[in-house]
Amino acid sequence: MDLSGKIALVTGGARGIGQRIVLALAESGCHVIVSDIDFEGAKQTADVVQQKGVKSLALQADVSSADDVSAMIDKSIEMFGRIDILVNNAGITRDNLLIRMKEEDWDLVLRINLKGAFLCTKQVIRPMMKQRSGKVINIASVVGVMGNAGQANYSASKAGMIGLTKSAAKEVAGKNIQINAIAPGFIQTEMTDHLREDVKETYMASIPAKVFGTPQDVANAVLFLASPMADYITGQVVHVDGGLVM
Ligand code: NAP
Repeated sequence: MDLSGKIALVTGGARGIGQRIVLALAESGCHVIVSDIDFEGAKQTADVVQQKGVKSLALQADVSSADDVSAMIDKSIEMFGRIDILVNNAGITRDNLLIRMKEEDWDLVLRINLKGAFLCTKQVIRPMMKQRSGKVINIASVVGVMGNAGQANYSASKAGMIGLTKSAAKEVAGKNIQINAIAPGFIQTEMTDHLREDVKETYMASIPAKVFGTPQDVANAVLFLASPMADYITGQVVHVDGGLVM
C-alpha cells in the first residue's frame, strides 16, 4: 500500500495493536504522530518510525481529556500542517461480571474508549473539512457487536464506537471524509496475554479459522481503509476475526 506523504495520527500507539498500526503506516510512507498516555513508550515507537525514513512526532495525551486532545491536534497541525488519517486505537479493559462491576470501572472504560474516540474525532473533523479530505478509523471490537460475559462496560464502549462511526460518517460523507470501524476478534497482545489458558481455549473453539489474529492483521485493514482504494467506503464495520462474527 502506497500512502507516501500522508500524515497519520494514532492514539495508544506506544505498544500492542496501535504500535503495529504506527509501523505499518510508516512502512507505507506515512509520516506518523504517535500519541499515547505513556510518553516514553510513544517516544520509543516514534524513534523506530524515524529509522524507516519518514517523519514522526511523539505526543503524550490522555484521550479522555478534552484539553489533552485539543493540544495533541494543535501540535500535530503545527508540525505537519494537516492530518490525513486518524486512528482511534487507545483502549482499556476493566473486566468483571455485571453484578460485581464497580461504577468507577464502568465510567473509566466508557470515558477512555468511547468519549476518547468522540473527542479525537470531533477535534480532527474541522481541519479535515477545511482540507476537504480525511480518513478516521475507529478500532472497535467484535464484542461491541456480539457482547461478552464479563465485559459489559467494554462491550458497551465498543458498541458505542460503532454508533459514533456510523453517525459521524453520515455527517461528513459529503465533505470527502470517510469514517469506518474495525472490529478485531481475538488478537494476540499484552491485553489478551494475561487471560487464563482455559479462557483462550474457549475463544479458539469459537473461531472458524482456528487461529488467533495478529496486530498485523488489524494493521492491514487500517492500511486498506486509509488508502484511496477505500474512498467509496464509509460508515462500515470491518471484522478482522477469522470468521468469529458472520
Ligand atoms: P494495549 O496493548 O493495552 O495498548 C493500548 C495502548 O493504549 C497502551 O499503550 C496504553 O497505554 C494506551 N492507553 C491507555 N489508556 C489511554 C488513554 N487514556 N489515552 C491514551 N492512550 C491510552 O491494547 P491492544 O490490545 O493493543 O488494543 C488496542 C485497541 O484494540 C484497543 O482499543 C482495544 O480495545 C482494541 N482491541 C483489542 C483486541 C485484542 O484482542 N487485543 C481485540 C479487539 C479490540 P498504557 O500501556 O500506559 O496503559
